[in-house]
Amino acid sequence: MENEILKIGAKQIPYFRTDEFSQLMFEIEKLFVKILNAPMNSKFILLTASGTGAMEAAVMNLFTEKDKVLVINGGTFGKRFAELCRLHGIDFRTIDLKFGERLTEEHLKPHDNKGYTALLVNIHETSTGQLYDKKLLSEFCKKNDMLFVVDAISSFLADEYDIEKYNIDCTILSSQKALALPPGLSFLILSEKSVERIKNRKPKNMYFNLSDYLSNMERGQTPFTPAVGIVYQLYEKLKNINNVGVRPFIEKTKKLAHHFRENIDNLNVVVPDYSLSNALTPILVENAFEVFLKLKKKGIFVTPSGGSLKNRLLRIGHIGNLTTEDNETLIRNLEEIL
Ligand SMILES: *Cc1c(COP(=O)(O)O)cnc(C)c1O
Repeated sequence: MENEILKIGAKQIPYFRTDEFSQLMFEIEKLFVKILNAPMNSKFILLTASGTGAMEAAVMNLFTEKDKVLVINGGTFGKRFAELCRLHGIDFRTIDLKFGERLTEEHLKPHDNKGYTALLVNIHETSTGQLYDKKLLSEFCKKNDMLFVVDAISSFLADEYDIEKYNIDCTILSSQKALALPPGLSFLILSEKSVERIKNRKPKNMYFNLSDYLSNMERGQTPFTPAVGIVYQLYEKLKNINNVGVRPFIEKTKKLAHHFRENIDNLNVVVPDYSLSNALTPILVENAFEVFLKLKKKGIFVTPSGGSLKNRLLRIGHIGNLTTEDNETLIRNLEEIL
């Protein structure tokens, strides 16, 4: 996190049912719409919940037992979408990818004209680092008249993202990835089609009733107390991004990712050959979890993996307030450990 954002986090939390706070929320909505290139009639929802909360809210409010959805299951987060559909009684099919398997048109073909309502995808499957092809998926949705639901939590601000260009009906974001804010907020940016669906649904749930969030947002408010402090940090962050420009902001992460990838030849590690997000570099290392622990002892944090990848895969982050010097320190320490 950046110092100026940390400082805001140390301030008193003001009362929020005020016109001033509503204006702040409207400004945030405008900034998101601009940064994501969303059509002007898009709607914005702010949830006080981790990213999974927003994924669950989307699933519960967009679909019913009458729908049938397709889920790209290429890792932990794809599996989570499938699990949410199962929990909420929504008929679903999955495209299962094995570790290392690249998503291609061939995977989609068998699902053409099968009467699906929507496609659910984590555009960057953070557990493996695979960045899926937005154009391919967008065209598949258009051709099959499906709602395009994208969890862009770990891709937003790391890779190009354009709601209008890719016809994205529901974008799911959260505060703690490239926005580099504390965890606790998540966001939905909805197309007109999604809004219509939400207005006609009555989920048996109070906290995640999105129709309630939409009507509250008309006056710049949320139904329940939001994480007010993080909202102030978010506003500052979005203003900064907007001042720099989204593209240069993404370029910075891209540069950092390339710098890391170009300087690990000596490490004797393998980087999978599917297309990668700029957000992180997955590296296949022997005794991965032990390497994670050794780095942690030195105050350096990389991300370990779960399940069968626990001792094989580490993920090196490039988002937030990191620098090429941080990369160099990490590489030096990895050289020592490996
Ligand atoms: C981080 C992340 C989430 C959110 O996880 P939470 O722990 O609930 O915040 C969801 N999807 C993807 C792709 C992520 O990377």
